[in-house]
Amino acid sequence: MFSSARWRLTLWFAGVLALVLVAMGTAVYLSTRHALLSSLDADLRSRASKEVVSLVARLSELSRRQLPLEQVRVGPEHPSPPYFYALLRPDGQVLAASANTDPAALPPPDASYAVMNGEAMFVNTRDQQGEDMRVYLLPLGGPRGTYVLAVGRSREPELDALRRLLLILIGGGAAGLVMASMGGYFLAGLALRPIREAMDRQRAFVADASHELRTPLALIRASAELVRRHPEEPVATHAQAVDDIVAESERLTRMVSQLLALARADAGRLSLNLERLDLAALAQDVVRQLRPQADERGLELVCESGGPAYLRGDEARLREVLLVLLDNALKFTGAGGRVTVRVADGGNRVHLSVSDTGIGIPPEHLPRIFDRFYRVDRSRTHDGGAGLGLSIAKSIVEAHEGRIWAESQPGQGSTFHVELPRSGPRRQAPAT
Ligand code: ADP
Repeated sequence: MFSSARWRLTLWFAGVLALVLVAMGTAVYLSTRHALLSSLDADLRSRASKEVVSLVARLSELSRRQLPLEQVRVGPEHPSPPYFYALLRPDGQVLAASANTDPAALPPPDASYAVMNGEAMFVNTRDQQGEDMRVYLLPLGGPRGTYVLAVGRSREPELDALRRLLLILIGGGAAGLVMASMGGYFLAGLALRPIREAMDRQRAFVADASHELRTPLALIRASAELVRRHPEEPVATHAQAVDDIVAESERLTRMVSQLLALARADAGRLSLNLERLDLAALAQDVVRQLRPQADERGLELVCESGGPAYLRGDEARLREVLLVLLDNALKFTGAGGRVTVRVADGGNRVHLSVSDTGIGIPPEHLPRIFDRFYRVDRSRTHDGGAGLGLSIAKSIVEAHEGRIWAESQPGQGSTFHVELPRSGPRRQAPAT
């Protein structure tokens, strides 16, 4: 799917680029052609108008001396080779011409007629070698009627330059297109990589979620079927099965709401009810709430803070973070251990840490514990966690524009640190 999207993107890019190149190339070619050919025309026109004045004078001189007009010199005294000059009779016959005039390059008689009766004009002809010629025809009043002066030269230099330009444009354009398309293919790969990674993550998330949801569902179903098989027996006989159903339903409910929170955080819609709150007081409250649980497990749970630590945040969400961290600390610390919550006010940031003297986290697992569904010991499914707690805590802390990280010594204990900006997040997700 991604490789076809990559090709499609590249093809679109190449197609658009080709269109731009063709349009630009055409514009360059046509404007150069126009400039070259019109400067040739301007050159012929100015030579003709210069020549016409002296030619009329020479014709009058011959006429005055009663000499045949055929003797007149057409063109400058020192001929300039690429240009040829010819004086044509009204019927198109050559009266006189410069030495380098190729009769084939002269215009057909009807062109002379047209000029005689109207305006000067340009015609394209071919000489004996087949070269393209440009000829300017200008009517002139001689002593014995109207004649036509033809001034021309080969257009080959211009056409040659244009052919070369066309080659460069086509060759350069094609090479540029190929290189740009290769670059485009590479860039499309780069641009698609994060999308592909996000989709892979999403896929893995959905697969993990379905897998995690299946276990409690299977347990609920098995317990319910056990009860159904003995409809005559009072419910009390199946107290264990009913308790399992209730416990697993609670687990499911918790997991589904965790999944919802994560999905919202992914969509950038984790809404925060921001208010000024004292994190130290909040920590003390959560510790008080969990003390019975700690006592039950034979753990010492203490909260240390050097006075209030105010910040702008969402109380319910930050309570959730504390609950996740403390729940883990209590869960992974054996009887006789100690769990300490510390809150410290550090200028424009507030620091919270939860330390335990529990089993610790092996260093190879440490970088991954904030990943979704990640559990160090996969076999411990029945301590209630699906491996979502820390990833939720992380998304809440990040929504507050804070940081969360962990340090741990296997066998000695772990410390989870949270650092929150006192002023709260600058960007606030829209409430949902
Ligand atoms: P769970 O809901 O399974 O506890 P979490 O995302 O909260 O999931 O934690 C992920 C994993 O990180 C846990 O399964 C556990 O292996 C490890 N972990 C988290 N906190 C601690 C801790 N305080 N001590 C040891 N291991 C921990």
